[in-house]
Amino acid sequence: MHAINNKSLVSFMVSDREEGLAVYNPATQELLGYVPVSTEQEISDKVSRAHSAQKDWSKLAGKQRSEILQRWFQLIIEYQNDLAHLLTLEQGKPLAESKAEVFYGASFIEWFAEEAKRSYGETIPAPTPSKRMLTIKQPVGVACAITPWNFPIAMITRKAAPALAAGCSFIVKPSELTPLSAFAIAELAYQAGVPQDILQVVVGNSAEEVGRIFTSHPLIRKLSFTGSTRVGRILMRQSAEGIKRTSLELGGNAPFIVFDDADIDAAVEGAIASKFRNAGQTCICANRFYVHSKVYDEFIAKFDTAVNQLKLGNGLEEGVNIGPLITPQAKQNIEALIESALKQGAKKVSTQKPQKGQFLLPVILRDVTQSMDIVSQEIFGPVAPVIAFENEQQLIGMANDTIHGLAAYFFTNNISRVWKVAEALEYGMVGINDSMISSEVAPFGGIKQSGIGREGARQGMDEYMDIKYLCFGGL
Ligand code: ADP
Repeated sequence: MHAINNKSLVSFMVSDREEGLAVYNPATQELLGYVPVSTEQEISDKVSRAHSAQKDWSKLAGKQRSEILQRWFQLIIEYQNDLAHLLTLEQGKPLAESKAEVFYGASFIEWFAEEAKRSYGETIPAPTPSKRMLTIKQPVGVACAITPWNFPIAMITRKAAPALAAGCSFIVKPSELTPLSAFAIAELAYQAGVPQDILQVVVGNSAEEVGRIFTSHPLIRKLSFTGSTRVGRILMRQSAEGIKRTSLELGGNAPFIVFDDADIDAAVEGAIASKFRNAGQTCICANRFYVHSKVYDEFIAKFDTAVNQLKLGNGLEEGVNIGPLITPQAKQNIEALIESALKQGAKKVSTQKPQKGQFLLPVILRDVTQSMDIVSQEIFGPVAPVIAFENEQQLIGMANDTIHGLAAYFFTNNISRVWKVAEALEYGMVGINDSMISSEVAPFGGIKQSGIGREGARQGMDEYMDIKYLCFGGL
Protein backbone atom coordinates (compact mmCIF):
# COMPACT_ATOMS: atom_id res chain seq x y z
CA MET A 1 0.00 0.00 0.00
CA HIS A 2 2.02 2.86 -1.37
CA ALA A 3 -0.07 5.49 0.43
CA ILE A 4 0.51 4.01 3.86
CA ASN A 5 4.21 3.39 3.30
CA ASN A 6 4.83 7.09 2.83
CA LYS A 7 2.46 8.44 5.46
CA SER A 8 1.27 7.39 8.87
CA LEU A 9 -1.98 5.43 8.89
CA VAL A 10 -3.62 8.28 10.74
CA SER A 11 -2.87 10.90 8.12
CA PHE A 12 -3.78 8.40 5.44
CA MET A 13 -7.23 7.80 6.94
CA VAL A 14 -7.87 11.30 8.24
CA SER A 15 -7.78 12.86 4.80
CA ASP A 16 -9.32 16.10 3.66
CA ARG A 17 -11.48 14.62 0.90
CA GLU A 18 -14.58 16.67 1.56
CA GLU A 19 -17.18 14.18 0.52
CA GLY A 20 -18.89 11.19 1.98
CA LEU A 21 -19.61 10.60 5.64
CA ALA A 22 -18.01 13.00 8.12
CA VAL A 23 -16.37 11.49 11.21
CA TYR A 24 -15.93 13.47 14.44
CA ASN A 25 -13.77 13.19 17.56
CA PRO A 26 -16.11 12.61 20.55
CA ALA A 27 -13.64 14.27 22.96
CA THR A 28 -13.35 17.56 21.06
CA GLN A 29 -16.18 17.42 18.47
CA GLU A 30 -13.53 18.21 15.82
CA LEU A 31 -14.03 16.95 12.30
CA LEU A 32 -11.56 14.13 11.63
CA GLY A 33 -12.24 13.29 8.01
CA TYR A 34 -14.59 11.61 5.59
CA VAL A 35 -15.20 8.08 4.39
CA PRO A 36 -16.78 7.15 1.06
CA VAL A 37 -20.51 6.41 0.95
CA SER A 38 -21.83 3.75 -1.44
CA THR A 39 -25.21 3.83 -3.16
CA GLU A 40 -27.57 0.86 -3.06
CA GLN A 41 -26.45 -0.16 -6.58
CA GLU A 42 -22.77 0.10 -5.64
CA ILE A 43 -23.31 -2.11 -2.59
CA SER A 44 -25.14 -4.65 -4.71
CA ASP A 45 -22.21 -4.64 -7.18
CA LYS A 46 -19.80 -5.19 -4.30
CA VAL A 47 -21.82 -8.22 -3.21
CA SER A 48 -21.65 -9.64 -6.76
CA ARG A 49 -17.87 -9.16 -6.84
CA ALA A 50 -17.55 -10.77 -3.39
CA HIS A 51 -19.56 -13.70 -4.69
CA SER A 52 -17.37 -14.22 -7.79
CA ALA A 53 -14.10 -13.80 -5.90
CA GLN A 54 -15.12 -16.23 -3.16
CA LYS A 55 -14.89 -19.19 -5.53
CA ASP A 56 -11.11 -18.79 -5.95
CA TRP A 57 -10.53 -17.84 -2.33
CA SER A 58 -12.25 -20.99 -1.10
CA LYS A 59 -10.13 -23.12 -3.45
CA LEU A 60 -6.91 -22.03 -1.74
CA ALA A 61 -5.53 -24.49 0.77
CA GLY A 62 -6.29 -23.52 4.36
CA LYS A 63 -2.54 -23.11 4.82
CA GLN A 64 -2.42 -20.51 2.02
CA ARG A 65 -5.23 -18.46 3.55
CA SER A 66 -3.49 -18.89 6.88
CA GLU A 67 -0.27 -17.35 5.55
CA ILE A 68 -2.15 -14.30 4.25
CA LEU A 69 -3.96 -13.87 7.56
CA GLN A 70 -0.66 -14.19 9.42
CA ARG A 71 0.73 -11.30 7.34
CA TRP A 72 -2.37 -9.24 8.14
CA PHE A 73 -1.83 -9.93 11.84
CA GLN A 74 1.85 -8.89 11.55
CA LEU A 75 0.95 -5.64 9.78
CA ILE A 76 -1.59 -4.70 12.45
CA ILE A 77 1.08 -5.26 15.09
CA GLU A 78 3.52 -3.19 13.03
CA TYR A 79 1.01 -0.32 12.82
CA GLN A 80 -0.23 -0.72 16.41
CA ASN A 81 0.61 2.83 17.48
CA ASP A 82 -1.06 4.42 14.46
CA LEU A 83 -4.13 2.24 14.81
CA ALA A 84 -4.43 2.95 18.54
CA HIS A 85 -4.14 6.68 17.90
CA LEU A 86 -6.85 6.49 15.24
CA LEU A 87 -9.11 4.50 17.58
CA THR A 88 -8.80 7.08 20.34
CA LEU A 89 -9.43 9.90 17.88
CA GLU A 90 -12.70 8.48 16.56
CA GLN A 91 -13.91 6.45 19.55
CA GLY A 92 -12.60 8.38 22.54
CA LYS A 93 -11.21 5.55 24.68
CA PRO A 94 -7.90 6.15 26.48
CA LEU A 95 -4.81 5.37 24.40
CA ALA A 96 -3.81 2.43 26.64
CA GLU A 97 -7.23 0.86 26.05
CA SER A 98 -6.93 1.51 22.32
CA LYS A 99 -3.60 -0.32 22.28
CA ALA A 100 -5.22 -3.18 24.18
CA GLU A 101 -8.01 -3.27 21.59
CA VAL A 102 -5.52 -3.36 18.72
CA PHE A 103 -3.85 -6.41 20.30
CA TYR A 104 -7.19 -8.00 21.17
CA GLY A 105 -8.45 -7.40 17.62
CA ALA A 106 -5.23 -8.75 16.10
CA SER A 107 -5.37 -11.83 18.33
CA PHE A 108 -8.46 -13.06 16.44
CA ILE A 109 -6.60 -12.84 13.15
CA GLU A 110 -3.69 -14.81 14.56
CA TRP A 111 -6.01 -17.39 16.14
CA PHE A 112 -8.12 -17.95 13.01
CA ALA A 113 -5.02 -17.99 10.81
CA GLU A 114 -4.10 -21.05 12.85
CA GLU A 115 -7.64 -22.47 12.74
CA ALA A 116 -7.72 -22.11 8.92
CA LYS A 117 -5.56 -25.24 8.82
CA ARG A 118 -7.87 -27.22 11.09
CA SER A 119 -11.39 -27.20 9.64
CA TYR A 120 -11.69 -30.94 10.14
CA GLY A 121 -14.67 -33.05 9.14
CA GLU A 122 -15.28 -36.45 10.66
CA THR A 123 -15.77 -40.07 9.69
CA ILE A 124 -18.90 -41.71 11.05
CA PRO A 125 -19.11 -45.47 11.68
CA ALA A 126 -21.92 -46.52 9.30
CA PRO A 127 -24.86 -48.61 10.57
CA THR A 128 -24.61 -51.05 7.61
CA PRO A 129 -21.51 -52.81 6.18
CA SER A 130 -22.12 -51.56 2.62
CA LYS A 131 -21.91 -47.86 3.43
CA ARG A 132 -19.26 -45.34 4.46
CA MET A 133 -20.19 -41.98 5.93
CA LEU A 134 -18.28 -38.80 6.56
CA THR A 135 -18.67 -35.03 6.86
CA ILE A 136 -16.72 -32.18 5.34
CA LYS A 137 -16.92 -28.49 6.24
CA GLN A 138 -17.35 -25.87 3.53
CA PRO A 139 -17.48 -22.07 3.65
CA VAL A 140 -21.02 -20.63 3.63
CA GLY A 141 -20.14 -18.22 0.79
CA VAL A 142 -20.55 -14.45 1.05
CA ALA A 143 -20.77 -13.38 4.69
CA CYS A 144 -21.63 -9.86 5.80
CA ALA A 145 -21.47 -8.07 9.10
CA ILE A 146 -22.73 -4.97 10.88
CA THR A 147 -20.56 -3.80 13.75
CA PRO A 148 -20.82 -1.24 16.56
CA TRP A 149 -18.71 1.74 17.63
CA ASN A 150 -17.51 0.53 21.04
CA PHE A 151 -14.75 -1.78 19.70
CA PRO A 152 -14.32 -0.52 16.13
CA ILE A 153 -11.42 -2.89 15.32
CA ALA A 154 -12.01 -5.97 17.46
CA MET A 155 -15.68 -6.38 16.56
CA ILE A 156 -14.65 -6.53 12.90
CA THR A 157 -11.65 -8.86 13.19
CA ARG A 158 -13.62 -11.25 15.42
CA LYS A 159 -15.95 -11.80 12.45
CA ALA A 160 -13.70 -11.16 9.43
CA ALA A 161 -10.87 -13.45 10.51
CA PRO A 162 -12.98 -16.64 10.91
CA ALA A 163 -14.91 -15.80 7.73
CA LEU A 164 -11.74 -15.41 5.68
CA ALA A 165 -10.08 -18.41 7.33
CA ALA A 166 -13.11 -20.54 6.46
CA GLY A 167 -12.95 -19.48 2.80
CA CYS A 168 -15.82 -16.96 2.78
CA SER A 169 -15.72 -13.48 1.34
CA PHE A 170 -16.70 -10.80 3.83
CA ILE A 171 -18.39 -7.40 3.64
CA VAL A 172 -18.68 -5.25 6.74
CA LYS A 173 -20.61 -2.11 7.51
CA PRO A 174 -18.90 -0.48 10.47
CA SER A 175 -20.69 1.96 12.73
CA GLU A 176 -21.10 5.33 11.03
CA LEU A 177 -19.53 6.85 14.19
CA THR A 178 -16.23 4.93 13.90
CA PRO A 179 -15.53 3.87 10.31
CA LEU A 180 -11.93 5.16 10.02
CA SER A 181 -10.25 2.27 11.78
CA ALA A 182 -12.36 -0.18 9.75
CA PHE A 183 -11.01 1.25 6.49
CA ALA A 184 -7.51 1.35 8.02
CA ILE A 185 -7.42 -2.36 8.94
CA ALA A 186 -8.87 -3.24 5.52
CA GLU A 187 -5.96 -1.36 3.86
CA LEU A 188 -3.55 -3.45 5.90
CA ALA A 189 -5.39 -6.63 4.87
CA TYR A 190 -4.94 -5.71 1.17
CA GLN A 191 -1.29 -5.03 1.80
CA ALA A 192 -1.07 -8.50 3.37
CA GLY A 193 -2.49 -10.09 0.22
CA VAL A 194 -6.23 -10.35 0.93
CA PRO A 195 -7.94 -9.68 -2.43
CA GLN A 196 -9.96 -6.44 -2.48
CA ASP A 197 -13.21 -8.25 -3.31
CA ILE A 198 -12.76 -10.77 -0.50
CA LEU A 199 -12.76 -8.16 2.28
CA GLN A 200 -14.83 -5.04 1.74
CA VAL A 201 -15.84 -2.19 4.01
CA VAL A 202 -19.01 -0.33 3.07
CA VAL A 203 -20.88 2.63 4.41
CA GLY A 204 -24.25 3.34 2.82
CA ASN A 205 -26.73 6.18 2.80
CA SER A 206 -28.13 4.84 6.08
CA ALA A 207 -27.59 1.87 8.39
CA GLU A 208 -31.17 0.79 7.68
CA GLU A 209 -30.56 0.70 3.94
CA VAL A 210 -27.41 -1.41 4.27
CA GLY A 211 -29.22 -3.67 6.75
CA ARG A 212 -32.01 -4.21 4.22
CA ILE A 213 -29.54 -5.04 1.43
CA PHE A 214 -27.52 -7.42 3.63
CA THR A 215 -30.62 -9.29 4.79
CA SER A 216 -32.32 -9.51 1.40
CA HIS A 217 -29.55 -9.93 -1.18
CA PRO A 218 -29.83 -13.46 -2.60
CA LEU A 219 -26.02 -13.89 -2.92
CA ILE A 220 -25.43 -13.21 0.79
CA ARG A 221 -25.62 -16.38 2.87
CA LYS A 222 -24.77 -15.19 6.33
CA LEU A 223 -25.16 -12.11 8.55
CA SER A 224 -23.18 -11.51 11.71
CA PHE A 225 -24.27 -8.58 13.86
CA THR A 226 -23.00 -7.00 17.05
CA GLY A 227 -25.12 -4.25 18.54
CA SER A 228 -28.33 -3.63 20.43
CA THR A 229 -31.02 -6.25 20.99
CA ARG A 230 -33.47 -3.83 19.35
CA VAL A 231 -31.57 -3.79 16.04
CA GLY A 232 -30.76 -7.51 16.36
CA ARG A 233 -34.50 -8.24 16.38
CA ILE A 234 -35.01 -6.14 13.21
CA LEU A 235 -32.18 -7.91 11.38
CA MET A 236 -33.32 -11.36 12.46
CA ARG A 237 -36.85 -10.60 11.29
CA GLN A 238 -35.54 -9.30 7.95
CA SER A 239 -33.30 -12.38 7.57
CA ALA A 240 -36.26 -14.72 8.02
CA GLU A 241 -37.52 -14.14 4.48
CA GLY A 242 -34.38 -15.56 2.84
CA ILE A 243 -33.66 -18.01 5.73
CA LYS A 244 -30.21 -16.42 6.10
CA ARG A 245 -27.90 -17.72 8.76
CA THR A 246 -27.46 -15.17 11.53
CA SER A 247 -25.03 -14.76 14.39
CA LEU A 248 -26.16 -12.11 16.85
CA GLU A 249 -24.12 -10.63 19.67
CA LEU A 250 -26.56 -8.30 21.41
CA GLY A 251 -27.05 -6.31 24.56
CA GLY A 252 -26.22 -7.47 28.06
CA ASN A 253 -27.22 -6.61 31.62
CA ALA A 254 -24.36 -8.19 33.54
CA PRO A 255 -24.76 -8.78 37.27
CA PHE A 256 -21.56 -8.39 39.32
CA ILE A 257 -21.96 -10.32 42.56
CA VAL A 258 -19.89 -10.02 45.73
CA PHE A 259 -20.50 -12.67 48.42
CA ASP A 260 -19.65 -12.07 52.06
CA ASP A 261 -16.76 -14.56 51.85
CA ALA A 262 -15.14 -12.79 48.87
CA ASP A 263 -11.78 -11.07 48.81
CA ILE A 264 -13.23 -7.55 48.81
CA ASP A 265 -10.09 -5.87 47.47
CA ALA A 266 -10.01 -8.27 44.52
CA ALA A 267 -13.73 -7.67 43.94
CA VAL A 268 -13.18 -3.88 43.90
CA GLU A 269 -10.32 -4.25 41.44
CA GLY A 270 -12.48 -6.46 39.23
CA ALA A 271 -15.39 -4.02 39.52
CA ILE A 272 -13.27 -1.07 38.36
CA ALA A 273 -11.95 -3.01 35.36
CA SER A 274 -15.35 -4.33 34.37
CA LYS A 275 -17.44 -1.23 34.98
CA PHE A 276 -15.26 1.61 33.75
CA ARG A 277 -13.38 0.15 30.79
CA ASN A 278 -14.38 2.13 27.69
CA ALA A 279 -16.34 4.50 30.00
CA GLY A 280 -18.78 1.68 30.71
CA GLN A 281 -19.63 1.28 27.03
CA THR A 282 -19.19 -2.47 26.57
CA CYS A 283 -21.87 -5.13 26.31
CA ILE A 284 -20.21 -7.25 29.00
CA CYS A 285 -19.75 -4.33 31.43
CA ALA A 286 -21.01 -4.92 34.95
CA ASN A 287 -24.43 -3.26 34.77
CA ARG A 288 -25.67 -3.89 38.33
CA PHE A 289 -23.80 -4.84 41.48
CA TYR A 290 -25.23 -7.26 44.06
CA VAL A 291 -23.29 -7.14 47.31
CA HIS A 292 -24.06 -9.20 50.42
CA SER A 293 -25.44 -6.97 53.17
CA LYS A 294 -22.62 -7.99 55.57
CA VAL A 295 -19.97 -6.49 53.27
CA TYR A 296 -22.13 -3.83 51.54
CA ASP A 297 -20.68 -0.78 53.31
CA GLU A 298 -17.10 -2.05 53.16
CA PHE A 299 -17.37 -2.76 49.42
CA ILE A 300 -18.93 0.63 48.66
CA ALA A 301 -16.31 2.52 50.69
CA LYS A 302 -13.41 0.78 48.92
CA PHE A 303 -15.10 1.01 45.53
CA ASP A 304 -15.66 4.75 46.04
CA THR A 305 -12.00 5.31 46.96
CA ALA A 306 -10.90 3.51 43.80
CA VAL A 307 -13.43 5.34 41.61
CA ASN A 308 -12.26 8.72 42.91
CA GLN A 309 -8.78 7.97 41.57
CA LEU A 310 -10.00 7.57 37.99
CA LYS A 311 -9.07 10.44 35.72
CA LEU A 312 -11.56 11.70 33.17
CA GLY A 313 -10.41 13.41 29.97
CA ASN A 314 -9.29 13.26 26.37
CA GLY A 315 -8.02 9.74 25.76
CA LEU A 316 -4.85 11.06 24.13
CA GLU A 317 -3.75 12.69 27.42
CA GLU A 318 -1.38 10.83 29.70
CA GLY A 319 -2.97 9.15 32.73
CA VAL A 320 -6.60 9.40 31.55
CA ASN A 321 -8.70 6.34 32.47
CA ILE A 322 -12.11 7.43 31.23
CA GLY A 323 -12.77 9.14 27.93
CA PRO A 324 -15.89 10.83 26.56
CA LEU A 325 -19.17 9.09 25.85
CA ILE A 326 -19.74 8.38 22.19
CA THR A 327 -22.48 10.98 21.54
CA PRO A 328 -24.31 13.80 23.39
CA GLN A 329 -27.44 11.63 23.20
CA ALA A 330 -25.65 8.78 25.03
CA LYS A 331 -24.79 11.19 27.84
CA GLN A 332 -28.39 12.43 28.08
CA ASN A 333 -29.75 8.88 28.22
CA ILE A 334 -27.40 7.93 31.06
CA GLU A 335 -28.15 11.13 32.99
CA ALA A 336 -31.87 10.40 32.65
CA LEU A 337 -31.33 6.89 34.10
CA ILE A 338 -29.39 8.37 37.05
CA GLU A 339 -32.17 10.93 37.68
CA SER A 340 -34.84 8.26 37.60
CA ALA A 341 -32.88 6.08 40.07
CA LEU A 342 -32.46 9.06 42.43
CA LYS A 343 -36.21 9.76 42.24
CA GLN A 344 -36.90 6.09 42.99
CA GLY A 345 -34.79 6.27 46.19
CA ALA A 346 -31.16 5.58 45.21
CA LYS A 347 -28.40 7.83 46.59
CA LYS A 348 -25.13 9.01 45.05
CA VAL A 349 -22.12 7.89 47.09
CA SER A 350 -20.01 10.94 46.09
CA THR A 351 -21.27 14.16 44.53
CA GLN A 352 -20.05 14.84 41.01
CA LYS A 353 -19.48 18.17 39.33
CA PRO A 354 -21.27 18.40 35.98
CA GLN A 355 -18.84 17.98 33.09
CA LYS A 356 -18.74 19.78 29.77
CA GLY A 357 -19.14 18.12 26.36
CA GLN A 358 -19.61 14.38 26.20
CA PHE A 359 -17.81 13.67 29.47
CA LEU A 360 -19.51 12.12 32.50
CA LEU A 361 -17.78 11.48 35.82
CA PRO A 362 -18.22 7.97 37.23
CA VAL A 363 -21.14 7.57 39.64
CA ILE A 364 -21.79 4.93 42.31
CA LEU A 365 -25.42 4.64 43.42
CA ARG A 366 -26.31 2.95 46.73
CA ASP A 367 -29.65 1.84 48.22
CA VAL A 368 -30.65 0.65 44.78
CA THR A 369 -33.52 -1.86 44.54
CA GLN A 370 -34.37 -4.50 41.96
CA SER A 371 -37.41 -2.66 40.60
CA MET A 372 -35.53 0.49 39.52
CA ASP A 373 -35.19 1.24 35.78
CA ILE A 374 -31.42 1.45 36.11
CA VAL A 375 -31.38 -2.24 37.08
CA SER A 376 -33.50 -3.51 34.22
CA GLN A 377 -31.89 -1.38 31.47
CA GLU A 378 -28.46 -1.52 29.90
CA ILE A 379 -26.72 1.64 31.19
CA PHE A 380 -23.75 1.74 28.74
CA GLY A 381 -21.98 4.37 30.82
CA PRO A 382 -19.85 4.89 33.95
CA VAL A 383 -22.63 4.35 36.51
CA ALA A 384 -22.55 1.58 39.12
CA PRO A 385 -25.86 0.83 40.91
CA VAL A 386 -25.29 -1.30 44.03
CA ILE A 387 -28.01 -3.53 45.52
CA ALA A 388 -27.77 -5.38 48.85
CA PHE A 389 -28.76 -9.06 49.07
CA GLU A 390 -29.26 -11.45 51.98
CA ASN A 391 -29.01 -15.01 50.63
CA GLU A 392 -28.01 -17.05 47.59
CA GLN A 393 -31.50 -18.04 46.50
CA GLN A 394 -32.77 -14.45 46.51
CA LEU A 395 -29.59 -13.38 44.71
CA ILE A 396 -29.92 -15.92 41.89
CA GLY A 397 -33.54 -14.87 41.34
CA MET A 398 -32.56 -11.21 41.02
CA ALA A 399 -29.48 -11.91 38.87
CA ASN A 400 -31.49 -13.97 36.35
CA ASP A 401 -34.44 -11.56 36.32
CA THR A 402 -33.68 -10.10 32.87
CA ILE A 403 -34.27 -10.79 29.19
CA HIS A 404 -30.50 -10.70 28.71
CA GLY A 405 -27.95 -13.47 29.23
CA LEU A 406 -24.53 -12.34 28.06
CA ALA A 407 -22.01 -12.10 30.93
CA ALA A 408 -22.14 -12.41 34.72
CA TYR A 409 -19.44 -12.12 37.37
CA PHE A 410 -19.17 -13.26 40.96
CA PHE A 411 -16.58 -13.15 43.69
CA THR A 412 -16.44 -15.78 46.45
CA ASN A 413 -13.87 -18.04 48.08
CA ASN A 414 -16.31 -20.86 48.76
CA ILE A 415 -15.60 -23.71 46.35
CA SER A 416 -19.02 -25.38 46.48
CA ARG A 417 -20.70 -22.03 45.96
CA VAL A 418 -18.48 -21.46 42.91
CA TRP A 419 -20.01 -24.47 41.16
CA LYS A 420 -23.60 -23.96 42.30
CA VAL A 421 -23.73 -20.28 41.36
CA ALA A 422 -21.83 -20.75 38.06
CA GLU A 423 -24.39 -23.36 37.02
CA ALA A 424 -27.42 -21.39 38.22
CA LEU A 425 -26.57 -18.13 36.42
CA GLU A 426 -28.41 -17.97 33.07
CA TYR A 427 -25.59 -16.38 31.09
CA GLY A 428 -23.36 -17.40 28.18
CA MET A 429 -20.20 -16.33 30.03
CA VAL A 430 -19.41 -16.28 33.74
CA GLY A 431 -16.36 -14.69 35.34
CA ILE A 432 -15.47 -16.28 38.71
CA ASN A 433 -13.18 -14.08 40.79
CA ASP A 434 -12.29 -12.45 37.48
CA SER A 435 -13.86 -9.72 35.40
CA MET A 436 -11.60 -9.70 32.34
CA ILE A 437 -13.00 -12.70 30.52
CA SER A 438 -12.65 -11.80 26.82
CA SER A 439 -10.09 -13.85 24.93
CA GLU A 440 -9.65 -15.08 21.38
CA VAL A 441 -9.31 -18.64 22.67
CA ALA A 442 -12.70 -18.76 24.45
CA PRO A 443 -16.23 -18.76 22.97
CA PHE A 444 -17.83 -15.33 23.39
CA GLY A 445 -21.62 -15.08 23.19
CA GLY A 446 -24.90 -14.90 24.98
CA ILE A 447 -28.11 -16.78 25.66
CA LYS A 448 -31.71 -15.52 25.95
CA GLN A 449 -32.09 -12.17 24.15
CA SER A 450 -28.35 -11.51 24.24
CA GLY A 451 -27.80 -13.43 21.06
CA ILE A 452 -27.16 -16.51 19.00
CA GLY A 453 -23.81 -18.06 18.13
CA ARG A 454 -20.28 -17.79 19.46
CA GLU A 455 -17.28 -15.73 18.40
CA GLY A 456 -13.62 -16.59 18.86
CA ALA A 457 -12.37 -20.01 19.91
CA ARG A 458 -12.73 -23.16 17.84
CA GLN A 459 -16.50 -22.59 17.70
CA GLY A 460 -16.08 -19.17 16.03
CA MET A 461 -15.25 -20.65 12.64
CA ASP A 462 -18.25 -22.98 12.59
CA GLU A 463 -20.42 -19.86 12.25
CA TYR A 464 -18.99 -19.42 8.74
CA MET A 465 -19.05 -23.06 7.61
CA ASP A 466 -21.68 -25.53 6.49
CA ILE A 467 -21.42 -29.19 7.37
CA LYS A 468 -21.88 -31.45 4.37
CA TYR A 469 -22.59 -35.14 4.95
CA LEU A 470 -21.30 -37.59 2.33
CA CYS A 471 -22.76 -41.09 2.14
CA PHE A 472 -20.95 -43.70 0.04
CA GLY A 473 -23.12 -46.72 -0.79
CA GLY A 474 -22.83 -50.03 -2.66
CA LEU A 475 -19.50 -50.99 -1.13
P1 ADP B 1 -25.76 1.04 19.71
O1 ADP B 1 -27.04 1.34 20.42
O2 ADP B 1 -24.72 0.43 20.53
O3 ADP B 1 -25.29 2.14 18.81
P2 ADP B 1 -26.97 -0.21 17.46
O4 ADP B 1 -27.58 -1.56 17.49
O5 ADP B 1 -27.87 0.96 17.30
O6 ADP B 1 -26.12 -0.16 18.77
O7 ADP B 1 -25.87 -0.11 16.34
C1 ADP B 1 -24.97 -1.15 16.04
C2 ADP B 1 -24.77 -1.18 14.55
O8 ADP B 1 -26.03 -1.40 13.93
C3 ADP B 1 -24.22 0.10 13.93
O9 ADP B 1 -23.34 -0.24 12.88
C4 ADP B 1 -25.46 0.78 13.39
O10 ADP B 1 -25.18 1.64 12.30
C5 ADP B 1 -26.25 -0.42 12.92
N1 ADP B 1 -27.71 -0.22 12.81
C6 ADP B 1 -28.52 0.57 13.55
N2 ADP B 1 -29.81 0.46 13.14
C7 ADP B 1 -29.83 -0.44 12.11
C8 ADP B 1 -30.84 -1.00 11.27
N3 ADP B 1 -32.12 -0.68 11.40
N4 ADP B 1 -30.46 -1.90 10.33
C9 ADP B 1 -29.16 -2.25 10.18
N5 ADP B 1 -28.17 -1.76 10.94
C10 ADP B 1 -28.48 -0.87 11.90
